[in-house]
Amino acid sequence: MKSWSDIEHSKQRVISNERIAPGSHLLKLHRNHKFIAGQVIALGISAEIEPRLYSIASAENDDLITILYSEKAEGALTPMLSNLKTGDTLLVSKPFGTFTAVKDNAVFVATGTGIAPFMSMLLSNKVNHATVIHGASYPEFFYFSEYLHSTLGERYIRCCSRCMPGCLYVGRVTKFLKEWDALSPNKNYYLCGSAEMVVETRDILISRGVSTAKINSEIYF
Ligand SMILES: Cc1cc2nc3c(=O)[nH]c(=O)nc-3n(C[C@H](O)[C@H](O)[C@H](O)COP(=O)(O)OP(=O)(O)OC[C@H]3O[C@@H](n4cnc5c(N)ncnc54)[C@H](O)[C@@H]3O)c2cc1C
Repeated sequence: MKSWSDIEHSKQRVISNERIAPGSHLLKLHRNHKFIAGQVIALGISAEIEPRLYSIASAENDDLITILYSEKAEGALTPMLSNLKTGDTLLVSKPFGTFTAVKDNAVFVATGTGIAPFMSMLLSNKVNHATVIHGASYPEFFYFSEYLHSTLGERYIRCCSRCMPGCLYVGRVTKFLKEWDALSPNKNYYLCGSAEMVVETRDILISRGVSTAKINSEIYF
């Protein structure tokens, strides 16, 4: 990642920074620039720490920008982010990124906070008839589940790796995809999360007949 001196940025005040699950927060800022659903912004507390990237989770026409982030125990930035209060300042870049070209009948595959760009696409009405396959360790990490469940119904699939058998699929998204009857080579697939998940999912999709042209990914490193 570039340093702050290489990217256009401004200081902004925090509107709110709400804890929504253990170690997980929704940060809200004023939207000072237009963006396309799927884009990211860089955030920082001071120029000494390199910018970190975060997907925008809110709709393109909202007055506020929402960022969903999870705190990394040994991380340089997120422990500080999680202590921010309303009115505190933060360094914020202009939105950028190319994970934006979404088509109808998309299948979104996300793990953890990787759901963020897909929320922005859904809330911005960028896609019709999308399916969301979201992976998390425990039920509390299925962020935005109320909205996704009420909007997508059976096209919202939660893969819970550490849940007891019950109403959710038990296992990772990759296990689900290997078994999924409805997996179609004709759909467009959008993957967002760790490099490990993206690489493994890509291999599974290819092994099930999906061409690489139909697989798009955003890796959180
Ligand atoms: C395109 C893109 C979009 C992204 N969007 C999001 C998003 O929407 N939400 C989100 O939460 N994240 C997102 N990320 C990830 C985000 O940019 C940061 O990497 C993440 O928040 C961690 O930042 P950090 O400064 O707290 O951790 P870092 O300091 O960068 O550390 C990263 C990891 O290394 C470990 N680590 C660091 N130092 C040590 C050490 N000394 N010993 C042991 N372990 C160590 C930390 O535990 C942590 O797991 C995105 C990344 C990319 C590339």
